[in-house]
Amino acid sequence: TEPSHGAMVPTLKGYACQRRTPLQHHNALLTDALLVLAENAEFCEDEGRSVAFRRAGAVLKALPQAVHKMEDLQGVPCLGGHSQRVIKEILEDGTSREVEMVLQSEQYQAMKALTNIFGVGVKTADRWFREGLRLPSDALNSGHKLNHAQQAGLQYYDDLNTPVTKAEADSIGQIVEEAVQAVLPGAEITLTGGFRRGKPTGHDVDFLITHPEEGKEEGLMPKVVSWLEARGLLLYQKTNINSYLEATDGPARPPHNMDRFERCFSIFRLERPRASPEQHPQAVGEEQPQERGSPLGRRASESPGWKAVRVDLVVSPVSQFAFALLGWTGSQLFERDLRRWAGQEKRMSLSSHALYDSTQNRYLRPCSEAEIFALLGLEFIPPSERNA
Ligand code: ATP
Ligand code: MN
Ligand code: MN
Repeated sequence: TEPSHGAMVPTLKGYACQRRTPLQHHNALLTDALLVLAENAEFCEDEGRSVAFRRAGAVLKALPQAVHKMEDLQGVPCLGGHSQRVIKEILEDGTSREVEMVLQSEQYQAMKALTNIFGVGVKTADRWFREGLRLPSDALNSGHKLNHAQQAGLQYYDDLNTPVTKAEADSIGQIVEEAVQAVLPGAEITLTGGFRRGKPTGHDVDFLITHPEEGKEEGLMPKVVSWLEARGLLLYQKTNINSYLEATDGPARPPHNMDRFERCFSIFRLERPRASPEQHPQAVGEEQPQERGSPLGRRASESPGWKAVRVDLVVSPVSQFAFALLGWTGSQLFERDLRRWAGQEKRMSLSSHALYDSTQNRYLRPCSEAEIFALLGLEFIPPSERNA
C-alpha cells in the first residue's frame, strides 16, 4: 500500500533494535505520560500492558519531530488503541485524565515510593501496600523484617534517589580501575549502562570487567570486593559467582534476562569533592551518625562529606565480552527487542553470553557488537542511539 500523506516516518520499524533512538527527542510530554501508565501497569503486575506502553513511548522517542495531531502518527508502529487514546487526549487537551488519575492515586504514589527503596521490588512493595504501608519511613517503623539490601536501601534512601552525575560515575570509574589493576594487572574496565548511551545522569553506575587472556578473569570479583572493602569504600555489596555453562545454559534454555556472570550489586561510599580547604576531611571507615540518609529526613547541615552511590560490577570472560557489552548497555527495551528480534525473525537465541542459531544448530562466535548486529541482520546502532 502507498504511504499516506502526512505520515512523518512511514518507514519507522517495529523493533526498537531496528531504530535509532537518541537521548534527546521531541515528544517528552507524550512519553512521560505513557511511562506513568507503564509503571502503573507494572505495579499491578501486568507486564504485558506495561511493555505495550513502553513500546508506544519508545517509538515516539524515535520520531524526528514533535507530534501535533493524530495524522502525524500514520504508519507509526507499536501504538495500541489504549496508547492512541491517551496520545489523542493529550494532543487535544494538554493532559490525559487517566494519567492524572494514576498520578493522584494512593496506590501509584505508595508503590513508587516503596519501589524506590533499593532491594524492594514490585512484589514486596505490593504486599507492604496491602498491609497499609505508604512511605519508606513506614517500612522502618512497622517492625517488618528487612533483608540487608532493604536495610541499606532505607539507610541511604535520599542519596540513592538522587541521580548519579557523569562526574560521579567517572570518579567511581577511577576507583574501580585502581581496584581492578591492583588485584589483576592487565584487566580492563568498561563503563556500560545508561552512561555508555550518553545519559548525563543515572540511577547507578554499571561496569563490565574483562581480561584479554581467557580464564584470567575467573574469581576476580571477590578480590576486587575485598580490595574495596579493606579501604572502607563499600557500604553494601552482594556478590554472585559465575554459573554460566554453555552446555546446559545455552540453546536448551530460552535466553533469560538474568545472566550468570560474576557480578556485584553494591553501594559505594563516594567522597564528595571538597568545597573549601578548611573543611575537615572525613577519615575512611569512620562511623557515621545513624540518622544519616534516613527517609525520616535530615537537615542539609547534616550532609556528610560523602554520597552513597549504587554500582553494578560484572566480570565477563573475554570470549563473551561482546555479548556482555551489548547486554549491559541497554536500554532495557532495546535489549528486550534484540532478543525478540533474534528469536522471532532469525530463529536465533541471544543472551548476554552467546548467540545460538537454531537453524544451523550451532553457536555463532562474533567478536564485537558490530558483528553481532551483522549476524542478526541488523544495521549497527551505536550506544548513543539505543535509548529506546
Ligand atoms: P540507569 O541510568 O537508570 O541506571 P540503565 O540503562 O543503566 O539506566 P540499569 O538498570 O543500570 O539501567 O541496566 C543497565 C543494563 O543492564 C540494561 O540493559 C539491563 O538490561 C542490564 N541489566 C540490568 N540488570 C540486569 C540483570 N540482573 N541481569 C542482566 N542484565 C541486567
Ligand atoms: Mn545503570
Ligand atoms: Mn545497573
